[in-house]
Amino acid sequence: MSELAPRRRFRRQRQGLVEFLREKGIVDEQVLAAINQVPRHLFMDQALERRAYEDEALPIGLSQTISQPFTVAYQTQTLAPRAGERILEIGTGSGYQAAVLCTLGVSLFTVERLRPLYERTRPLLRELGYRANCRHGDGTKGWEAMAPFDGILVTAGALDIPRPLLDQLREPDGERPGGRLVIPVGGTGGQVMQRIERTGPASFEAEELETFSFVPLIPE
Ligand code: SAH
Repeated sequence: MSELAPRRRFRRQRQGLVEFLREKGIVDEQVLAAINQVPRHLFMDQALERRAYEDEALPIGLSQTISQPFTVAYQTQTLAPRAGERILEIGTGSGYQAAVLCTLGVSLFTVERLRPLYERTRPLLRELGYRANCRHGDGTKGWEAMAPFDGILVTAGALDIPRPLLDQLREPDGERPGGRLVIPVGGTGGQVMQRIERTGPASFEAEELETFSFVPLIPE
């Protein structure tokens, strides 16, 4: 197999996944195009790659999972990132969600709390050509030095909304709306996806969306 072949493998399966996500209600064509481009099978153990294009969360070690493709598509669609925006992801994990965001042309910052995952995923993203800024640390604190962000995406279930994440959203400016936070909130029974927009220096507007099941967001 040639050097380029790994990315091209599973093309039919990937297209099948995109059609499935479309039927399940994902309407953002840019998000669907990104899912169609990112080789999800390269973000997991090779032993699992045959299942990479099923709509399933799969184990990545250390009791963590690569999110279900529908969840990745849904969160990305809800965040609605535009090319060039500064986006912070909490929970780098496998790097798959990060790769989808990079494919959409954002300037990506991503934080992972488990060192072995950080150490595995950072070089993987680089090797595959995704220019994400990776950091090892507690994402409930955000990434202060790189703030403010146009968008923050939390990929683990939070018991409550970490204050630093709200503070690190960009304030609205003239015609331009403020930054937005997409975060699943709730305990082990399931989390409600929330979309929170900064509407002023100390004001925010929250919207509750659908229910999901995430691994927990664990503060330091
Ligand atoms: N976005 C990932 C999803 C991984 S699951 C992907 O596409 O694969 C959630 C991840 O959040 C796990 O890797 C977990 O270790 C990480 N996590 C949990 N609590 C965290 C915290 N406080 N700060 C940063 N990462 C955290």
